[in-house]
Amino acid sequence: MVSFSLVGKELIQLIISLVEWGSTASFVETITSPVHTIPGWILPVWCIAAFILFYKRPFVRRVAASIWLVSALVTLFVPSHSVSMTFFDVGQGDAMLFSLADKGSMIVDLGPSNKTGKTVLNHIKSENIHKNIQLVFSHGHVDHIGGSVAFLSGFSRLGYHDVSMWHGGWLADEVPGAKLVKRGDQILIDEAARVYVLHPNTQGFDNDESIILLIKYGPTSILLAGDAEAAAEKRVIRDFAPLLTSTILKVGHHGSKTSSTVKFLAAVKPAQSIISAGRKNRFNHPDHEVVDRLATYRSVIYSTSVNGAIQFYLGEQGIKDVKTTIK
Ligand SMILES: [Zn+2]
Repeated sequence: MVSFSLVGKELIQLIISLVEWGSTASFVETITSPVHTIPGWILPVWCIAAFILFYKRPFVRRVAASIWLVSALVTLFVPSHSVSMTFFDVGQGDAMLFSLADKGSMIVDLGPSNKTGKTVLNHIKSENIHKNIQLVFSHGHVDHIGGSVAFLSGFSRLGYHDVSMWHGGWLADEVPGAKLVKRGDQILIDEAARVYVLHPNTQGFDNDESIILLIKYGPTSILLAGDAEAAAEKRVIRDFAPLLTSTILKVGHHGSKTSSTVKFLAAVKPAQSIISAGRKNRFNHPDHEVVDRLATYRSVIYSTSVNGAIQFYLGEQGIKDVKTTIK
């Protein structure tokens, strides 16, 4: 007869292996990975169960081991229902995900390479996000769409098909089936959130034809500025100035000084700012002038080159939590 203590050791080893696998397997090829979501009650339950494992009576130890196992399985297989906004660390480029969990999601850009496309794919796979996905290509530069082939082929290989794609007027041949959006349109994910298309007014391949999106979820406003520069910012201020005040701003064009003009930031007043840029990139993004301008609005500044992936958890009262892969 196998003693319980042996079974217990093997069980614990199995659980540890499962947890390690669950928190790394889908991120193997990432540059850096978003924070894996673990329900808040898991850690205290694990600690209590671990303490009880030292109890003398085998029955009690068996109960504690069972609690460990159930907790591990919940962590691995129960999808998170958090609403979140994720800025992936894709080096010099952009890739973002606004997720309403099982209600639907919106991906904006896929970074510069196959590797970054897989980063996004691995994340949505790990979070069990595959229904009602809206995929927006902000504009046609490689640092935003370079991951699209790897993402889309991997997406269909997984048996996922529920994706709608959107572009701003340049993508008709590159991604068949992508639909055109322009200023004044809305992208519908779910009634719980609104996504307004503030730009472009004109169609083309340049930074200043970037799609600019405003996401409204409860009291939280998220402005995703693509690579918009001064001319595009001017148009958006002219058309939408009263709507621009935002909780979170994805800073335009990786923090280049040709974006984030004083007038634009005065309208947006971002409480939190995200700069998506590569470490030691050849463009020296972000420009120190932009960082200084953001600081004048007392914005909390995150950069993927410093913080890694950045993930905001959102509730009906606003931002609940912010997590980064590099502390
Ligand atoms: Zn770019």
